[in-house]
Parts: sequence; C-alpha cells; structure tokens
Amino acid sequence: MFLSTLFPNETEEKRPPEHLQEDLPRPHKVVVVGAGQVGSTFAYALLLSGLVGEMVLIDIDRERVEGEVMDLNHAVPLSNPLRIWAGDYSDCAGADVVVVAAGTGQKPGETRLDLVRRNAGIFANIIPRITEFSQQGILLIATNPVDVLSYVSWKLSGFPWQRVIGSGTVLDTARFRHLLGRHLHIDPRNVHAHIIGEHGDSEVPVWSMANVSGIGLERFCERHSCQLNAEQQDEVFRQTREAAYQIIQRKGATYYAVAVGLLRIVESILRNQYTVLSVSTLVPGYYGIENVYLSLPSVIGRAGVERVVYLPLNERETEAFRDSADVVRGVLDDVEDLLGG
Ligand code: NAD
Repeated sequence: MFLSTLFPNETEEKRPPEHLQEDLPRPHKVVVVGAGQVGSTFAYALLLSGLVGEMVLIDIDRERVEGEVMDLNHAVPLSNPLRIWAGDYSDCAGADVVVVAAGTGQKPGETRLDLVRRNAGIFANIIPRITEFSQQGILLIATNPVDVLSYVSWKLSGFPWQRVIGSGTVLDTARFRHLLGRHLHIDPRNVHAHIIGEHGDSEVPVWSMANVSGIGLERFCERHSCQLNAEQQDEVFRQTREAAYQIIQRKGATYYAVAVGLLRIVESILRNQYTVLSVSTLVPGYYGIENVYLSLPSVIGRAGVERVVYLPLNERETEAFRDSADVVRGVLDDVEDLLGG
C-alpha cells in the first residue's frame, strides 16, 4: 500500500498541480492508437522530435502499451520534456492529431479483401470512440489498406475531409526519391518526384514532372553524363513498388520510414508549415475522379489538407491514375455495407 503510494502506476497520466498549469501555453498533444511496430516507432520519433508536450498511446493490448510507455518515458530525461501515458479514448480530448496505426496484418491463406473487412471492422469500433472525445483534432491514418481506411474513417467520423488524412504515398514517394537519388548520385532531398494514386500495387510514378532541383530528369542526365533510359526507369519504379514486399520478406514488417513519414505530416500540421506531401485525401474531382481517397501532393497545415495540388499529368499518367482509382473504388464497394450505407 505504502509503496504504491510512493510509486503510482507510472504509465498513468500525472498532471502538474492546477496553479502550475495556469500560465503555460497549451502543449501540443498527439494520441497514437495502435502501439505496434508502426505506432511505437512513430511515438519514438515524435519523442525525439520535441514537437509535442503530451503523447498518449492507446492499444487493445494493455500490457504491450504499458511496456512501450515505460520504455519511452525512460528516454525523456535524456531527450525532451514530454508527458507520455497509456490512455484510453477519453484521452483523445484536446488532441491536435490522432494517429491510427491499429489493425492486423494479412494472415496465411487470407485474401486481401478479408484483411480489408477485418481492419474496416476494427475501424468501425475505434473511430466513433475517438470522435466521441475529439471533435476538433485531425485524424491521420496509417493502417493498411490506407486509402480505403482513410475513406472509411472520413465517413465514420463525420469530419470534413480536410481533417482526415491517410499517410498514403508519402512513404512510396520517399522510396522513389531515395532510389532516384542513388541512381543519379544526388542527395535525395534535391530529387523532387511524386508517387500518386493507391498506396499499393496500382500506384503511379509521375515521371513527367520528376526533377533535380527544378531541372527535368532528361535534361539533367544530358548535361551531367548520367543515364536514365526507359528500362532503368522501369527498374527504379519496380524497386519502389516492391520495396515493402522485399523488407517484409527480410524482417517481417516495415516501420522506420513510415514512422518518419507520419512525423513529417504531424510536424507540418502542428507548425502550420504548408509542406507539400503526397498524402491520401479525398480526390477533388481531378481527372474526373471523386468520392475516393487517393494520394496526390497536398499542402498540409494546421487545418489538415489546405489544398490538393493539381498536377498536369500526361495522358499515360492520367490513365494510370484512373486505373488506380478504379482499384480502390472496387475495394470500397466491398466494405460500403460496414459504413451503414
Ligand atoms: P502491429 O501488429 O505491430 O501493430 C498493430 C497494433 O494494433 C497492435 O499493437 C494491436 O494490439 C493493435 N490493435 C489491434 N486491434 C486494435 C483495436 N481494436 N484497438 C486498438 N488497438 C488495436 O502492426 P504494425 O506493423 O504496427 O502495422 C500496423 C498497420 O500499419 C498495418 O495495417 C500495416 O499494414 C500498416 N502499415 C502502413 C504503412 C503505410 O505506409 N501506411 C507502412 C507500414 C505498415
């Protein structure tokens, strides 16, 4: 009894006394629902970033989430001041962003559609519990299939679409830029290129607008004695598209790069940076496509998606983007019954 008074459960929230809270600016608060590999790696990246003052982890597996919180809390004295606790859905109140990485992966013998229905079922349970307490925050979805579940979250939440964002092809775009940078011997931060459409097999590389510091790839290669012919382009894109399979085959899951992608989105929201990131969003009628979530470069700020950037795609890219929309729409039709409509 005495010991538990001295050492209360360290995963529970400990607020400073009222009189010490008064003059403090409200710290940014982020909630992570699903503290598995993606959720906890994101939490770790967020801790090191120093962006927030409060971080809450929620998971159906209480033991696991308590373990993650203890481990993260032990890094606080060595990094940034931050309150971290294992919470429940009522802790979504006042959250600036709720990141959702809860769900399950594909089981042996299970079809992709089974997985969609299982994760959509989990979301039908989670999203209303979040929105019961958080009406003003932004929902950031990472669980796969991310385009379908972002749409499902938008519908279930009743939020304006601008405040429901999927991590989309932020990760695929980073992989694409990494591979292009390596091929061209250029810092990937100076390679500007987008993967759009589905975060999945039907994703689309926008070659027509890829550039190095504003110089189109063809011209850049002409002037700088490098080569990026059609075959090499196909190979760069193949490696981009298959990266997740390659990593999963080797280590069972991917989580570092997606965690940094989520952090980049959260940073742009909290700091109102208006960064252009290829997130999954409701397509605003571009190329004749609507009522589906897909990735397009979007301006991310305090209100979520501030603008979706219009890309003047060439004919081939437009066609591929439409095909990608058909793929995601097809899956959405199969889960529409879970949305009660
Ligand atoms: P994981 O199994 O390690 O973690 C999932 C967590 O969700 C677990 O801790 C589990 O307990 C929790 N969970 C399950 N049901 C829940 C519920 N009803 N309520 C609360 N928590 C619940 O999986 P992971 O490797 O962290 O991957 C999570 C998701 O992220 C997967 O869908 C994966 O495909 C996806 N992912 C997305 C990207 C991307 O770019 N968007 C990249 C990598 C992984």
